[in-house]
Amino acid sequence: MDEKLQHAYDEVLRRNPGESEFHQAVLEVLDTLGPVVAKHPEYADAAIIERICEPERQIIFRVPWVDDQGQTRINRGFRVEFNSALGPYKGGLRFHPSVYLGIVKFLGFEQIFKNALTGLPIGGGKGGSDFDPKGRSDAEIMRFCQSFMTELYRHIGEYTDVPAGDIGVGGREIGYLFGQYKRITNRYESGVLTGKGLGWGGSRVRTEATGYGTVFFVDEILRSRGDDLEGKKVAVSGSGNVAIYAIEKLQQLGAVVVACSDSGGYVVDEAGIDLALLKDVKEARRQRISHYADERSGATFVDDGSVWSVPCEIALPCATQNELDDTDAGALIRNGVQVVAEGANMPCTPEAVRAFADAGVAFAPGKAANAGGVATSALEMQQNASRDSWGFEHTEQRLAEIMRNIHRSCLTAADEYGQPGNYVAGANIVGFTQVADAMLALGVI
Ligand code: GLU
Repeated sequence: MDEKLQHAYDEVLRRNPGESEFHQAVLEVLDTLGPVVAKHPEYADAAIIERICEPERQIIFRVPWVDDQGQTRINRGFRVEFNSALGPYKGGLRFHPSVYLGIVKFLGFEQIFKNALTGLPIGGGKGGSDFDPKGRSDAEIMRFCQSFMTELYRHIGEYTDVPAGDIGVGGREIGYLFGQYKRITNRYESGVLTGKGLGWGGSRVRTEATGYGTVFFVDEILRSRGDDLEGKKVAVSGSGNVAIYAIEKLQQLGAVVVACSDSGGYVVDEAGIDLALLKDVKEARRQRISHYADERSGATFVDDGSVWSVPCEIALPCATQNELDDTDAGALIRNGVQVVAEGANMPCTPEAVRAFADAGVAFAPGKAANAGGVATSALEMQQNASRDSWGFEHTEQRLAEIMRNIHRSCLTAADEYGQPGNYVAGANIVGFTQVADAMLALGVI
């Protein structure tokens, strides 16, 4: 690595001990920026790398709430406002027991470049809590969200910081969060949160956007190679919002999705996933994926091993960070995988990413492939600002166009910097230069 980049990385390690996911996310970006800092010494002169790796603001707070048995519970809440050179901080909230500062920083750091790639005016941030929503009643979820927002409200706003959903935070949680924000501030400030319900300021296609966008990106990769999705065998990990709508779009475009998973195991369904049943099990009933196999003849549930052992031509990891390691990558490569696109944030370990590159597999990193979610959040902000509501088709077309542009700009940058076909380098270079140029223009702040 370039000496200046290495120094910046060493400082990140020193200043953020124990935050391995954050270190991983920073290394993955800095590793690809050598040619950029060589061509643009002005970035190093203005300490852009060091500044970009240090969040503008980090908020940590107590979230007390009372469970259904009347017992008081304490969780920890976070909001890391990472970079606002391009617009208000933007990024989701994650409610999951694994959440700690290192996870929020890794997600916030990724978000800076992802948001820049969309070409829309949004900065990067992320938040969440170590609260575990699994098994909690609606009333408990509501009380938790209200308590979380009772602190968060003072830090956010449509021109300041605009949270949304992530793992464990969907339409229900955004509703409770928005309700509490409105109550405390006495303002119907639609643009303060995205992922809202359609009846109260939400955008069409937002629910589908991350999954659809990932598939649009894969479609672009295939088209650039004179191919398409028709008849392609696909394995998808996860069965949350991203996975479900990736499967929906894959099926609309003629692909056959043969496997999906949750944290308890995976299902194989060679006839193609029955999406209506999957939505019923996971969305309506909030049940484990094993119920899918119980109710679908020909499908099998496997509770050990990895979904990546299922033979496929396209793999979409849509579950969570570091879910696909080098062993999984090896199995996918042996089974002839052609394209891997990250629907989740950083689901592939660095070793897996290297294995795909060595094997000539097209690999699309999350900050490019899953940017459709936050891009549609920015479209929701546009609609809120103009008090407008767009139709489904129009919004989906805007999303498709954004994904096409991201794909094109990644390939162009990769070419320009001598790494043709390298989407990792392309995405990092485009995202970084957008933010770096804005930071230069705004001065030392
Ligand atoms: N959590 C999503 C992401 O990882 C969406 C963020 C948003 O819509 O602000 O990009």
